Amino acid sequence: MVVTETTQLVKFVEQYSICQETNCQGKLKVNSIELAGLGGAASLSFGCTNCGSCNVKFETSSQRENGDAAVSKILQVATICSGASYAIYKKLFHHILGMHTVSDSVFFGTLKEMYDHVKDILDGICLEARKEMQDMDQEKLGSWQRAVTCGDAVWLTRGSFSRNCTYTVRNYLTGALLYYCHICQKGSDNLCQDDIYEGTSKAAEGFGANEVFKLMVKDQMNVECHIQDGDSTSENVVLKHFPLCRVLRCGNHVAKNHAIKLDKLRKLKEMTTNDGVGVECYCKGKKHAKHCGCLTEKFIRKAKASFQMCLTNAGTDPNAFSEKLMNLALHHFQDEHQWDGGQCDFHPLVVCSCGSCTDKYNLKCQGKPYKSDQVLKCPFHTLAYKLECQEKAGLADVLIHPEIGPKIGTLHVFTTTFLPT
Ligand SMILES: [Zn+2]
Ligand SMILES: [Zn+2]
Ligand SMILES: [Zn+2]
Ligand SMILES: [Zn+2]
Ligand SMILES: [Zn+2]
Ligand SMILES: [Zn+2]
Repeated sequence: MVVTETTQLVKFVEQYSICQETNCQGKLKVNSIELAGLGGAASLSFGCTNCGSCNVKFETSSQRENGDAAVSKILQVATICSGASYAIYKKLFHHILGMHTVSDSVFFGTLKEMYDHVKDILDGICLEARKEMQDMDQEKLGSWQRAVTCGDAVWLTRGSFSRNCTYTVRNYLTGALLYYCHICQKGSDNLCQDDIYEGTSKAAEGFGANEVFKLMVKDQMNVECHIQDGDSTSENVVLKHFPLCRVLRCGNHVAKNHAIKLDKLRKLKEMTTNDGVGVECYCKGKKHAKHCGCLTEKFIRKAKASFQMCLTNAGTDPNAFSEKLMNLALHHFQDEHQWDGGQCDFHPLVVCSCGSCTDKYNLKCQGKPYKSDQVLKCPFHTLAYKLECQEKAGLADVLIHPEIGPKIGTLHVFTTTFLPT
């Protein structure tokens, strides 16, 4: 394989792929390729297919125009683009593949060299997305004056200990990136030329949100609705810059929180209600038995999926969401699918009994009544689930926008941080 630097090859193709002899417009064809050494250098010989008189030689090189090794550079760029650190680069290419790798200072030099180009691309993407909103009918939801945005912070490494944090704001309706703010804490080098963030990484999200929303005000954008996770600091930042903005919660985050809360309740075995009544688990003082009717991990997985289904099926009606969620607690998971004034609307009431029907809404057999495979029977865990559903049903107005509805799953698109620590 001949590896050569693209810039050189492009230049070559532009200048020489047409025969240079006067009055001859013939195309050049490769006659021979000779590899030189192991570094990827090669010598190519071209001849004209038309006049046959010209002969061009092209020497590829394994070096860039400034003398750097091209292959090594490509590997460094690829590593950086994939979001990996120098430690991973070294481990992969030096220890695993046994290749000669460059020092960290050269690697960081590459990072620095790339930074402006990457930033240019990123800024271009943002500008285009903003222009699209500015060009829209400004009466329409989702336009520059009626923007629907979502914001979140991502850290380069998981947890709150990362030195790199990026706060992004996207157009919630299209997912397009609009603004970003990189927050870097000081590392052992001085690569980063922007101001270094002095605060703690925990406060970085609010800091980043503030920087971004300041820019949005400056650009005379008007955010009508903003979707985010439960972070109260960034919510306050949004309201500081756009006091009339309606801040909604991300459905995925709330669903995740629902599951976490249920998992905590799963481990409890008694509680005292607000009226001072003590409620105990069936299995208090002993281990849970199979099908004891308490909260199980399997139940929680079902409950989380059902929660998301309630959000999706509610469309743009917050009340419908609350009602659907409460029906799960009061009826469906009690194995009651038809009751005074209602029935489960997300599964058929009669299911196949022969085992060979393919359309569950159009049975060929006699069928049998639907049964939940997860049923809550324990008084404590039934109540605990009901109370948790009640709490989440109360969030309906911050989960569902009457015009947009819930749109879950578009918030978390990972954006790689390019600045070194
Ligand atoms: Zn020619
Ligand atoms: Zn979320
Ligand atoms: Zn139990
Ligand atoms: Zn129980
Ligand atoms: Zn049901
Ligand atoms: Zn059947």
